[in-house]
Amino acid sequence: MKNIILLAPPAAGKGTLSEMLTEKYGYVHISTGDLLRSEIKSNTTLGKKVDGIIKEGKYVPDDIIIKLIAKRINEPECDKGYILDGFPRTINQAEKYDELLSKYNKDIGVAIYIDVPKEVAMKRACSRITCPKCGRIYNKYSEEMRPKKEGICDDCKVKLTHRDDDSEETFIKRFDEYVNKTMPLYDYYESKGVLKKIKSHESKYDTFNEAVQIIEN
Ligand code: AMP
Repeated sequence: MKNIILLAPPAAGKGTLSEMLTEKYGYVHISTGDLLRSEIKSNTTLGKKVDGIIKEGKYVPDDIIIKLIAKRINEPECDKGYILDGFPRTINQAEKYDELLSKYNKDIGVAIYIDVPKEVAMKRACSRITCPKCGRIYNKYSEEMRPKKEGICDDCKVKLTHRDDDSEETFIKRFDEYVNKTMPLYDYYESKGVLKKIKSHESKYDTFNEAVQIIEN
């Protein structure tokens, strides 16, 4: 299976698309945001260091992120193929990732850019709720993303939570970080000939079908 890099602004649907592709193809889903939130939840030294940065809507320093990724992609289960959800987010991270790929003899695969207007992403971020146990993403304003029982995860039956960094104020900062630091990656991957573009549709199934076309062609 081709490894996948998902490139997109915050709340474009990277997490949801990753969940759906993982279920269909058996990919390993690697979300740097989830890895960091798990460190925060476990109150580790790293978690304490990054908590404030994430709440502020800023990017965590590259060296921390690279260390997390270097360890994760070298785990044997990743040999079957993985989805990078939220990494790389800077040119420096992308260059370091290229070095890791050569070191571990892995293929870059494909970089999928999910296009979404800022206002749509902001509305989604502000109404997104997540399962603190399994990480599944719900949205109370979308019929197909709503939990069966209000505020409760369909699978784990635990109370859904709203991310601290999904407020309107923090979303704007996160979006700025994305424009300044992540958007240059499109040219980076386009020049390598691995960039594909899809749209973030209102229905997650339409977005998923576009991604499937890319993976299977
Ligand atoms: P996400 O769950 O992908 O929206 O990430 C949540 C937050 O974690 C981001 O707003 C950043 O503060 C941090 N983060 C996640 N991935 C990265 C990355 N590759 N580089 C820097 N910061 C990151």
